[in-house]
Amino acid sequence: MTGSELTPETLVVSAGRPPIADDAGVNVSISLNATRHAGGPVGYGRYGNENWSALETAISSLEGGKTLVFSSGMAAISAVFSLLPTGSVISASHHGYSGVMTLLKNLDAMGRIDVRFVNVTNTQEVLEALPGTSLLWLESPTNPMLDVADLPKLISSAKKAGIGVGVDNTFATPLNQNPLSMGADIVMHSVTKFISGHSDILMGSLSTNDEALFSRLEEARKFNGAIPGPFESWLALRGLRTLGVRLERGQSNALELAKRLSAHPGVSRVHYPGLPTDPHHNLAKSFMKGFGAVLSFELHGGAQQADTLCSSSLLIANATSLGGVETLWERRRRWSGESASVPESLIRVSVGCENIDDLWSDIERAFKNAG
Ligand SMILES: *Cc1c(COP(=O)(O)O)cnc(C)c1O
Repeated sequence: MTGSELTPETLVVSAGRPPIADDAGVNVSISLNATRHAGGPVGYGRYGNENWSALETAISSLEGGKTLVFSSGMAAISAVFSLLPTGSVISASHHGYSGVMTLLKNLDAMGRIDVRFVNVTNTQEVLEALPGTSLLWLESPTNPMLDVADLPKLISSAKKAGIGVGVDNTFATPLNQNPLSMGADIVMHSVTKFISGHSDILMGSLSTNDEALFSRLEEARKFNGAIPGPFESWLALRGLRTLGVRLERGQSNALELAKRLSAHPGVSRVHYPGLPTDPHHNLAKSFMKGFGAVLSFELHGGAQQADTLCSSSLLIANATSLGGVETLWERRRRWSGESASVPESLIRVSVGCENIDDLWSDIERAFKNAG
């Protein structure tokens, strides 16, 4: 069977393995080589590595195109922005990953890039910001509000206008939506999150169908130098092998928690596109295969109560980040980089693979403690 006949749930298991041969390993071995004998296509450790290639092949089998892996998600995004001529306009989501928000604000303040922040859930507002834009940088579902942008519409409108489109697909994962197939130029992942899945490494990836763009991004990786380690790449691929089962469990746990939280007297609002009552549910359902394993909720109480709640759990860790097998929660506004339009009491939950009743008991106990 060739790769294209296989489903994504199988590809996460099967893609990026060594060719079959007598006694060949079933996994690519960790290749620790800073230099190589002359004459081959790689030559030096900043130009290529067997463990990057295996992971890149696996991500490409899911997202399409050709993939480059980087030392972090931010390194991958920085490589994209580094290609833009000085003075270019980037239109980007005003609710997005806080590191990207800060990077964009800094590039704008330096005069490097002109940034237009837009509400990506307001399709009209995004379309109006497009004239003069060089790059539309989208994130959906958004962090931490779990808003959903009309990706098919936004991507096709921007492409019709000749504008570059990049999509941060970290929250959705390649199993829930594939922006390249909607016409985007670049899909980016923080491999740190769901793809690697165990909160033990940082990595990022970019995939594109455009050969010329791929070459420019590869040059950026080579010469800006934000390369991942071979061991991290090996771990990321090891983690990817279980993405299908991890996501299935994480998503079903997330939906159940979203339902139970919605009925909890201390909760004023739950944000999860998988909830049939969520304002983004129908749009999400129209192009997403699943709704992901991240949700957020607001409390009737304020920031203080949210902080007490997050620090009262015994099983769920009060920690940032997402996409690991373990459930994490945190009050987002504890970060100074978080958008002021995010409610003070908003708690983001990255839902892991634990037993749902153990998670719920922990949440109920934390609520009792937080009053
Ligand atoms: C974590 C994250 C990033 C940044 O990735 P790092 O691997 O931490 O550099 C970018 N976008 C989203 C949506 C993220 O969750």
